[in-house]
Amino acid sequence: MIIQLKKSIDNNEAALFADQNKAFHIQENGAEVLITSSSVKELPQDLKDKADNHWVFDNDMQLASREYMSKTREVRIGDVIIGGDTKNTLLIGGPCSVESEAQIQESSALLKSLNLTTLRGGCYKPRTSPYSFQGLGLEGLKLLAKMREEHGLNVITEVRDATHVEDVIEHSDVIQIGAKAMYDQGILRACAKARKPVLLKRGFGTTLQEFVQAAEFILSGGNDQVILCERGIRTFETKTRFTLDLCGVAYLQEYTNLPIILDPSHALGYRYGIEKLAQACVAMGIDGLLIETHPDPSVAKSDAAQQLTHDGFKQLIKAINPVAQSIGYKIV
Ligand code: PEP
Ligand code: MN
Repeated sequence: MIIQLKKSIDNNEAALFADQNKAFHIQENGAEVLITSSSVKELPQDLKDKADNHWVFDNDMQLASREYMSKTREVRIGDVIIGGDTKNTLLIGGPCSVESEAQIQESSALLKSLNLTTLRGGCYKPRTSPYSFQGLGLEGLKLLAKMREEHGLNVITEVRDATHVEDVIEHSDVIQIGAKAMYDQGILRACAKARKPVLLKRGFGTTLQEFVQAAEFILSGGNDQVILCERGIRTFETKTRFTLDLCGVAYLQEYTNLPIILDPSHALGYRYGIEKLAQACVAMGIDGLLIETHPDPSVAKSDAAQQLTHDGFKQLIKAINPVAQSIGYKIV
């Protein structure tokens, strides 16, 4: 249950009520808000005359639900706002991994030349094999910070496990929680305390219910800047790397109030169809698109097969712009 307390109730009093009712306590829209277990169906006795409003739920989708908040939440990334009434589709581009200063400079120059604002690049890579490139770690984070400084770009990078979560929070503008890290409680709880947007990727074996529950960890811990990212799930199909779950996206758009970013690069796993998939994604009216692109994909240290060349990335923008326009959206 979500209980919105009367405006006259201050933070300290709300904290006390939260304690007495084993509830989470956050502030939202200028009011103190308590969130109890979803099994609570009746307004607790001691809060009967303290509440302005309350919502009862039959599952764990509470703060993320459209029942609670009918409009998509707004999330600000630098000067760009997504969600709300904006109809912005934020195009995030950059390599899978930060590999060297020369490489990430080229990626930054590409984005700047296209008037894009948000650079991606992983520094702590959650590789399937211990023998693959694991990322540059802190050195990579510092390179991203340099790109922010030199080019005014916002940077998004992933946290692989709780050991370096504070470093990622410090050096990024958007914290990405990777598909394999999505269940890590240490990461979720640390991101709940961060004052930065979080891009939460759906695990490839994660149900929509579990995905939203992970988002609820961040929201109920006090961070309302959560963006969901569909990046493909594992099915019986092996010809493509994963299966982009557009039905799941329709579900999330219908029932949750969180902005949604789609990542066709990791879903397909190959360069050849990314442009068409991106068009299909944009046609759904989404808040963002994440596309991997590398100055020279043939030498990429991770996800080489799916990264677009810079020419391919420019071509993709040409292909998605009219699709966005046709539904009243803008690629930003
Ligand atoms: C990535 O964004 O490079 C990445 C590893 O993504 P995912 O967590 O979706 O596999
Ligand atoms: Mn990748």
